[in-house]
Formats: sequence, structure tokens, C-alpha cells
Amino acid sequence: MTSFTVPDLSILPPLALQIGDGLVTDTSGGMHTHVYSGTGSVTGEIPLAGAAEVDAAVRAARAAFPGWWATPADARRDALLAMARLVTEHAAELSTLNVIDNGTPLMITAFQNTVAAGLFTYNAGWADKGGGEVHRTWPMRALDYSLDEPYGVVGVIIPWNGPVTAIAQVLGPALAAGNCVVLKPPEMAPYSALAMGRLFREAGFPPGVVNVVPGGPEAGDALVRHQGVDKVHFTGSGQTARIITHAAADSLKPLGFELGGKSAVIVFDDADLDAATSGALQGISFNLAGQGCINGTRVLVHRPIYDQLVESVAAAAADVAIGDPFEIDTLMGPVVSEGACQRILGVIDEAKHSSRLVAGGVRMYGDYAGGFYVAPTVFADVDNASSLAQNEVFGPVQSIIPFDTEAEAVRLANDTAFGLAAYVYTHDLGRTHRVAEALEAGNVWVNGGVGIPASVPFGGVKQSGYGRIGGAAGIREFSRPKNVWIAL
Ligand code: NAD
Repeated sequence: MTSFTVPDLSILPPLALQIGDGLVTDTSGGMHTHVYSGTGSVTGEIPLAGAAEVDAAVRAARAAFPGWWATPADARRDALLAMARLVTEHAAELSTLNVIDNGTPLMITAFQNTVAAGLFTYNAGWADKGGGEVHRTWPMRALDYSLDEPYGVVGVIIPWNGPVTAIAQVLGPALAAGNCVVLKPPEMAPYSALAMGRLFREAGFPPGVVNVVPGGPEAGDALVRHQGVDKVHFTGSGQTARIITHAAADSLKPLGFELGGKSAVIVFDDADLDAATSGALQGISFNLAGQGCINGTRVLVHRPIYDQLVESVAAAAADVAIGDPFEIDTLMGPVVSEGACQRILGVIDEAKHSSRLVAGGVRMYGDYAGGFYVAPTVFADVDNASSLAQNEVFGPVQSIIPFDTEAEAVRLANDTAFGLAAYVYTHDLGRTHRVAEALEAGNVWVNGGVGIPASVPFGGVKQSGYGRIGGAAGIREFSRPKNVWIAL
């Protein structure tokens, strides 16, 4: 009998909202009992923001904005560099909190800290560069230039499944561009966000530049509707994005959306099958037991290698290092909650009627009984039109679908409402470029790749969202040009 690590709760940050220079524990949004998904044990009672605390946070951000934007660019750059250093120095603490937050295995949280530090460093580099452009004019000669200006106060809403990287991906460019932020992490994963809020202050960000208000839908809605918020950046589900779109309509507030996906992994018959197998496996194991937006969760396989690949993916799924998230060699941990576990098992039971189950398909009991563990599950002979292939499962469930031609592979890959990522395995150079061009996705990975480099634009098309974070596109996402025309 394996005993799962009991989380060290002495490491938790103060359970309080961070508004301006203060910590707020007496809140109007109620309390949330947080449960650690690895063992099912309660970790703390989280005070949640209601509309009153969101209002206070927005006021704090508004008050801080003129000073932050007037701060010399090199000082804003240095604050972001200091944040990168602090994330690295506090990596062990952030990793532990991230495990407690949502059950992400330590192996992956360590990687996420490195990614987050890299994102702050990269975006620090933008804080002291750019600034605008000079334009030619006609028929009148003029000196015409545009100045890149921040929006002001940005409301940032993040999901529970990768708080440390989500904060760095969005706050990195938002702060570098000169905005102040009200960050609303979800009640299900508040700890690493609260710890990062403290690090922002330690890094030298003045009070009010970053405010952290954990909460649920009520707080999110108040943030979206608040007249003092100039832009909302939302990462989460399409369902919530639709609600936000309606809520933002009155104020015509600009929105940025990073939503879900049902990304294809296309494996051609000339591919390296070991690499393709591990790519297919990443879709269900890496990124928190398949609970990741960019996971490849529809594996489209060229008919000549179909049986072989089904066999190798099923064997690899049965062999995944699943277990205690605090053990350093655990690749896959639990799903986030009992509710998620039940929902995923329901999807699996439904899919058993129409597809061939070749691995997993069950909840894990025994040593795993306290937590929310679903065995890595693989279905073969899946119909691309089925609910399994069309909807985000957000759990460790893979679908394998055969195809005969390149055109059919592209058609199947694009036959989804989503368009976040796509993965292609082939050594044919011409095909690589043809397929990459034809795929309706914001990001295409060919022959592997883990993670999103800070320097590249990331985002979706179709119902996976709009707007981009990462690279120069990330800075543009959080600034807008003001044009100035001077007669000569
Ligand atoms: P969710 O949509 O349920 O919640 C996301 C956030 O929205 C949470 O903070 C939640 O409290 C808040 N929220 C809920 N109702 C709201 C409302 N009415 N107004 C404003 N805010 C509200 O999503 P989730 O279950 O937390 O996360 C999973 C989803 O996120 C998946 O669809 C996943 O694909 C997506 N995701 C996308 C990316 C990306 O970069 N594209 C990254 C991670 C996760």
C-alpha cells in the first residue's frame, strides 16, 4: 500500500485578498472549502471576493495606474526582471502550492516555474523597447507618429489548471505595456496566485499595480461589468466566454479570449512512431491528467500504420507513471475534483457504446481511492462526428481516428468548432508546410515540442478564442496606438 504525501499546509500564503497595500479577509463573496485532489483532504477555507472587493481592487488599480505608467520604462523592466528572479528563488514553494492547488505533479510544476520565470524575463525586455512608430503621410506633408499606450486597468480572469504559467503569460505583457491589473484566480486554485501576488510586491511593483482577488463567477462578473476596467483578458471555457461577451456588451469593453481546444495530432505513415506515440500520450498525461487547453486529444492516424499506433498508444497509456503528485517521478496525477472525476467517467461510459476501448476506462481505487484518479484512457475507431471527438473532455481520455489521405486528415482536423493547436508527425517537408498552412489552428507543432516559448504568439482561432499572448503580439494585446498628426 503506497501512502500519498500529506501536503504541508504551513507553506500556504495568508488566505486573504490582496487589494492595494492591504490584505482583506472579511469578504462579501462567501468562503470556499478547498480540497487537495491528490488525497481528497481539505486544505483551507478561502475568503472569496464579491462585487464590493472587486470594486475596491479596481479602485486601487485605477489609483495606481497614473504613477505606474509614468514610471520610467527601465524601472518597469527591472521590476519584471526582479519578479523573474523571485519566481526562480521561490520555485520550491510555488511548486508545492501548485501541487496543492490542483494536483499537478511536481515534475510539471517545476517546469512551469521555469516557463513563468522565462515569461517575466522575456516581457521585461519589451518594457523598455518600442513605444510607437513614425508614419509617412500624403497628400499633406506632416510629422505623423503613433504612441503605444496601455489600456489602463486590465481585469485578468484565469482558470484553475495552470495558474503560475497563466499569470506569467498574461501579467508579463500586461504589466510591461504599462497597465495595472486586477487578477481573479478561481476559488479552486488560489494558493499559487496569492503567493505570486506577494512576490509582485516584493519585486517592487507599487501597491495597486497588481491586485489579487480569488473568487468565483460572482467576482468574475463584477470585474467584467466594472466601469473602471478598460479591458478584460479571460482564459477559460467557451461557455464562460459567451457569458462574459454578453456581460461586456453594455460597456463595449475589449476582450481577449484564450479558450479550449480539441486539437488534432496527425500521424502520417512516414512518421517516427515513437515520437508520435509520445505525442499522443502527452494529450492525456502531460498538463495535469489531460486537463490542458492545448492537449492533442484527437489522434488522426494514416491507415497503413493505424493498428500499430493504436497498439503502441494503448501500451504507453497502460505504462504511464501515475501516482502521488509530490513524488518527483510521477508524470500524471489526479483530475481536479470529485465532480470532474464523475463527469469524465460519464463521458467514458457513453463512449464505450460507440468506440473501441483499448486502455483504461476506469476510476482508480486502492491506493488512489482518496483522490480523484482516472486511469489513462484510450479509445480507437472513434467517429470524428461523435461527442467524444467534438467536445473537450478535460481529462485523460484519448480518441484515435483513422484516415486515408492527406486531404482527409486536414478535413478531419479542421472539422471541429475549436482551433487552438495542432500537432503533425511526418518527415515529408512539402507535406509539413502544406498541412501547417491548411490547418485551422493558432499554433502548429511538427514532430514534437513541449510548452510554449515566451517569444512566440499563442492563441486560438474559431471557438478557441481571439487575441494573442506571447512574443511581440502579447505586448500589442495590452497596448493601443494613439496617432498624432502635426502639420509641417
Ligand atoms: P471556466 O470557464 O469554468 O472558469 C474560468 C474562470 O472564469 C474562473 O476564474 C472562473 O471563476 C471564472 N468565471 C466563471 N464564471 C464567470 C462569469 N460569469 N464571469 C466571469 N468569470 C467567470 O474554466 P475552467 O474550468 O476554470 O478552466 C478550464 C477551461 O479553460 C477549459 O476549457 C480550458 O481549455 C480552458 N483553458 C484555456 C487556456 C488557453 O490558453 N487557451 C489555458 C488554460 C485553460
